[in-house]
Amino acid sequence: MSVSGLCELCQTNEVVDGCDRCGRLVCERHYDRSTGLCTDCLREVGDAPGGEGQPDRGQGPDGVDTYEF
Ligand SMILES: [Zn+2]
Ligand SMILES: [Zn+2]
Repeated sequence: MSVSGLCELCQTNEVVDGCDRCGRLVCERHYDRSTGLCTDCLREVGDAPGGEGQPDRGQGPDGVDTYEF
């Protein structure tokens, strides 16, 4: 075992790898294997690959009118 301990983001799950950007040790849920970054850094670099749905808060495309019958 090279890494052991708890994820530095959730403090719950076991560490699987370290983030390439911030160096934090994170669990599978908070580590993106394709980029090697933790989810925190993913959000910062704004290059999150589509996948897990994290709905953006705020205004979405609102092209649907509501009709009352
Ligand atoms: Zn975690
Ligand atoms: Zn990171």
